[in-house]
Amino acid sequence: MAKTAIVDIDNTLWQFCDAFHVVLLKINNTFPPPGTWKTWDIFDGYCSTDDFHDAINWVHAHQDRDDFVPYPEARNFLASLKANGYHVTIASHRLPEYREPTERWLDRHGLVYDELHLSHHKTDLFNASTSVVIDDAPQVLEKAVEAGAIATGLLFPWNMEYRDDGFKLYPNLNEILKNILNSKK
Ligand SMILES: [Mg+2]
Repeated sequence: MAKTAIVDIDNTLWQFCDAFHVVLLKINNTFPPPGTWKTWDIFDGYCSTDDFHDAINWVHAHQDRDDFVPYPEARNFLASLKANGYHVTIASHRLPEYREPTERWLDRHGLVYDELHLSHHKTDLFNASTSVVIDDAPQVLEKAVEAGAIATGLLFPWNMEYRDDGFKLYPNLNEILKNILNSKK
């Protein structure tokens, strides 16, 4: 069975939180910056749940904007996973209707992959062939650990308090790649 790497997009291949914050500031110009985001109820008192979801969807609908760029290491990160024999499944928590802008963005920036999965149930993908899960969401990483995969991702305020839960968090994709390739799983 091929070994699979399941790779998130937002806050894994690019700094989604910064783009998202710009949109949130248009709804409420006192919205706190991403450096303070520790939980998912960050919008409490700043905007409605609908506004919050609309802002997420707006970013996803405009994924292919010129100023929405991947992290500089993202291209080599994915290419290296493939070169090391991983089947790369990109899995993003976003509505399937944003597949086209997402595909255009991946292609435009040379981000290689084998499959693109867009849904709110990415943990359903985890199975015996899942070797590695790269994500910033602690809930996703915890499920990956339960599934026996290597779970790793970029370090952010919203995941740092979970860093002892069996997954490893790093400041950049190069460090994540080094950890994955050294683990030989
Ligand atoms: Mg993410």
